[in-house]
Amino acid sequence: MLIDGTVYLDYQAATPVDPRVAEEMAILMTVDFANPSSDDHSLGWRARRSIELSRTTIADAWGAGPDEIIFTSGATEANNIAVLGGALGAPSTRRRLVVSAIEHKAVLEAAYAAERIGFAVEIIPVGADGIVELAALRRSLDETVAVVSVMAVNNETGVVQPIQQVAELAAQVGALSHCDATQAPLAGDVDLITWGVDAASFSSHKLYGPKGVGALYLSSQRPWTPRPLIFGGGQEEGIRPGTLPTPLCVGFAKAVDILRQGGEVERTHVAQLRDDFVAGIQRLGSRFKLTAAHAQRHPGNAHMTLSGVDAADLLIRLQPAVAASLGSACTSGVIGPSHVLSAMGLSDDEAASCIRFSLGRFSDEDQVAQALEAIQAALR
Ligand code: PMP
Repeated sequence: MLIDGTVYLDYQAATPVDPRVAEEMAILMTVDFANPSSDDHSLGWRARRSIELSRTTIADAWGAGPDEIIFTSGATEANNIAVLGGALGAPSTRRRLVVSAIEHKAVLEAAYAAERIGFAVEIIPVGADGIVELAALRRSLDETVAVVSVMAVNNETGVVQPIQQVAELAAQVGALSHCDATQAPLAGDVDLITWGVDAASFSSHKLYGPKGVGALYLSSQRPWTPRPLIFGGGQEEGIRPGTLPTPLCVGFAKAVDILRQGGEVERTHVAQLRDDFVAGIQRLGSRFKLTAAHAQRHPGNAHMTLSGVDAADLLIRLQPAVAASLGSACTSGVIGPSHVLSAMGLSDDEAASCIRFSLGRFSDEDQVAQALEAIQAALR
């Protein structure tokens, strides 16, 4: 994707809205404007129908029932409801939260918010390969645990996590298992039945849909229902009240449907381009090392260390030719090394030499060549 000549290699921060999604939304924006909770007229029914069709499309694609999908404003909100709301909804004998060290801030900060009101938080380490240590998780679990939260795919390193095993371990002690699955739909097929989690968070803008909408999956088998964090008119079963944004929900569903149909082919294509990009970077010099090179990773992710290079400086020098990032956009502006890289055992100096390139649907060979040229020039 080229916008004003910039090669976009930051798909893990936000994907461009697919034109097919934008088209569908544009039509609805002016037609389905009625409040989907307006039960007293046909335009309200019409908006409600669009919402419910969207919910069903998303549920079908991911192996859920429509009544298991709650629309939210994005994954941050879904994570907060699952983790903090999940803790608040737990029986009073369960006062511990167990989360991995590499979770997104929307999980970690929600857990710390629970800690401030009396819950204990335990952080599960990851290995040098960026994968959560199941043995440590197993040791920390007992019947005092309320919520276990481990993400499906890390947003910085792209490393895929063993969420099925995590869900099994959590179920053995009767805890609520939550998975931040924000980065999962582009990394592989989402299959909530096989995953076996009680709750999962998704974000539309990570799968070529619009920003401002996401979903919280709540399994009908969940041990309890998270408490709502905001209160209002009772929409979304009272778990997330507020007027639903019909065009955003429809755009989200359209994006999920496009992915359902073409996801597998797309992933192969993106992984090939990513591998070409990494090979091209390696040809530029031996200073490059792919992070967690042997782990199963997101097909678009090329997170790497550039020894001896200040990654922040390199990114500035790459402007406006290439859009990439140091790591998570959500922790941009936070001083200090990424908590994900620190958890993997990287020193502060090593972490300062890390950069995340992420490719996606609209990447192509020309853009890869153009980006490599710009990187070579910037390094010189
Ligand atoms: N979790 C992960 C793993 C993410 O990558 C992101 C987005 N950076 C979020 C949560 C937050 O999602 P949203 O932007 O939809 O609030």
